[in-house]
Amino acid sequence: MPTGKVEVKKAICMWCHCHCRVSVHIKDGELVKVDADEELPQGHLLATTVKACPRARAAAEWFHHPDRLNYPLKRMGEKGEGKWQRISWDQALDEIAQKLAELKSTYGPETLAFTMGTYRTHNEYTARFFNLFGSPNLVGGPANVCFCPANVVSAAMYGWPGNQPWLRPGITKCLLLLGANPSESHRLLWYAILATQRAGAKIIVIDPRRTRLAEIADIWLQPRPGTDAALIMSMINVIIAEELYDKEFVERWCHGFDKLVARTRDYTPEKVAEITWLPAEKIKEAARLYATSKPAASFDTMGIEQLPNNAETMQARFILPAITGNLDVRGGDRLSGCNAHVIPDADIELSDKLPPEQKPKMLGADRARLFSWQCYELVRDNMRKVWGLQLVQNAHCHAWAPIAYRAIITDKPYPVRAMISVGSNPMVAHANTKLVYKALKKLDLYVVVDFWMTPSAELADYVLPAASWLERPLIFTLHDTMNVLEVGETAFPPHKPGKYERRTDYDFWRGLGIRLGQEEYWPWQTLEEAYDYRLSPTGYTVREFIDQKGGTERLTSAERKYYETGFGTPTGKVELYSTVLESLGYDPLPRYEEPAETPISDPELAREYPLILITGGRVQPYYHSEHRQIDSLRRKYPHPRIQIHPDKASELGIADGDWVWIETPRGRVKQKCQYFAGIDPGVVHAQHGWWFPEEPGEEPWLHGVWESNANVLTDDDPEHCNQISGGWPLRTGLCKVYKIKTY
Ligand code: SF4
Repeated sequence: MPTGKVEVKKAICMWCHCHCRVSVHIKDGELVKVDADEELPQGHLLATTVKACPRARAAAEWFHHPDRLNYPLKRMGEKGEGKWQRISWDQALDEIAQKLAELKSTYGPETLAFTMGTYRTHNEYTARFFNLFGSPNLVGGPANVCFCPANVVSAAMYGWPGNQPWLRPGITKCLLLLGANPSESHRLLWYAILATQRAGAKIIVIDPRRTRLAEIADIWLQPRPGTDAALIMSMINVIIAEELYDKEFVERWCHGFDKLVARTRDYTPEKVAEITWLPAEKIKEAARLYATSKPAASFDTMGIEQLPNNAETMQARFILPAITGNLDVRGGDRLSGCNAHVIPDADIELSDKLPPEQKPKMLGADRARLFSWQCYELVRDNMRKVWGLQLVQNAHCHAWAPIAYRAIITDKPYPVRAMISVGSNPMVAHANTKLVYKALKKLDLYVVVDFWMTPSAELADYVLPAASWLERPLIFTLHDTMNVLEVGETAFPPHKPGKYERRTDYDFWRGLGIRLGQEEYWPWQTLEEAYDYRLSPTGYTVREFIDQKGGTERLTSAERKYYETGFGTPTGKVELYSTVLESLGYDPLPRYEEPAETPISDPELAREYPLILITGGRVQPYYHSEHRQIDSLRRKYPHPRIQIHPDKASELGIADGDWVWIETPRGRVKQKCQYFAGIDPGVVHAQHGWWFPEEPGEEPWLHGVWESNANVLTDDDPEHCNQISGGWPLRTGLCKVYKIKTY
């Protein structure tokens, strides 16, 4: 019986990394709107109240969308034929568990792999299932080109995974942003930056594109894509040569300064100017501004993470705050610690249950060793001495996607016959789509848990409907790396008789685990019960935490905690010279290496493909490959676009708005040309994440995955990826662009 009464639930939005607290307005069981939560601090950067973003405003359209997956589906025809039968959850879980048991007994538990999305769900229960199952193959997927390399390099050098800008308007004097475009990617960071600038902070931006952030910067450095490590090393060179570093901190708290001095000697601004295409004077100016405006905060994001030399760039980038005395000071960079009042993700994962003999079998871990068990255990043990905390496994210990796909195709080093993807769309999200396609087609068992039929789901044997953040409770601690605890409530039950039967990923893993003999490890019947357990040290249940504490607990960070404890590294100091990387067999100091596919390293290829292709940059209102099916958002942004400098476009006979082919040695896709003077004429920027939900799902279409998907173009050759982190080159490859002829 409709009452017309509006009920408001307090939830946490998971549609992007802001993780906003939001109010969900419900009338007669229907979602009416999602609003910014006016009563509570937003996100985890600054306590600011902001308006709901375009995605949140379209929440009702998303939630009630007729294309949402509602019931488990089983493939009936050939893979990719688009023939499905609706089945029950019990049938799906029974059959999947049986097949997994068969494959495990034939090939060993490592035959099962998993791909994850960008924190769309919570992976601690995934890791729990995999550790108990005995497989080390949680494939990081985008993690190698997301925040994870920064987190592990930071953990190795600082003994804490991930420093965060401790932005304080009026206190922060300078902000250095590397490869960040927060006006498109992270609105809370964007507002925090604007507030900090209004209060007088200077801003230095490193980005090959003139983003909105670059436009407001005091200094914008526009390097040749992929040369950031050289640029930062040169800034360090200037800071040392001009004695702008913090001598006391360096003397007492840094390990390997002398070796760093020797290494940076080669990176004079004049020499680096040739590498980066930047004027030497501008490098000096940026180094001086950063080093003399204290406290200075810094932040890197995907523009750096998605470079083929991302690990070395991170090493250099983490040296800057240390030698200038900006580490763990208010207004500078923070080592936040975690919220000790909640049972952490790491304890849920049961990483000690993975048999030791399985760990070295992790695919690719003998090569990209930053994410190996060897690195994980070394970093974890040192970190634990200072922070008393385990390191989250699922964010810091991964199989390597390029090797995993090759293993599926070749059976080397061993057969990988099953894969599960939860909230993950590898056909669009992972590099080299043709290879991913070949691998997914070859699997004996492919299970997808998602909200929609995606191009990847179309290749699955089973597709299961996931509960979204609106249909589940949430605990948010950002993989135990923040001292904030956010708890959100379920706005809608995931089941509605006669309408849909969605389940949380917790229910999925538990259901599978119980069928595979893991009963004793899944004592909590529901996710809310599991979260009640995790909140038990606080003395509250999920319900009580929301009702009585407003759903948020933000602990105060102390400054310079290392005075008491030292750093959680093998030497107890900030390791400018990383003994962790050294023990993994890598260069302990940062250095610049020319990526494998650039006009300098491969001039012959550059004659055919003369432009440098950047991809991976974000665009509102989308989040990576999501939200293309939401009409109100799609109308605002209907087509994929490639940004080309007008001079270059004219030279190529391309008009603004023309459809063009973008071609690399891997393939070609089409996007619409957007004239953009804020990019070097030798560089283009193609959008990622494009598929077309409105196109047929069966082959050959797969929702248009071959048309405009930038990952058809990208390179995942393991030899071209970062040999420390496994990161693949999303921002340095070569391409050509030409107008699509119409007859
Ligand atoms: S999609 Fe919008 S509301 Fe949701 S977390 Fe991101 S910025 Fe916040």
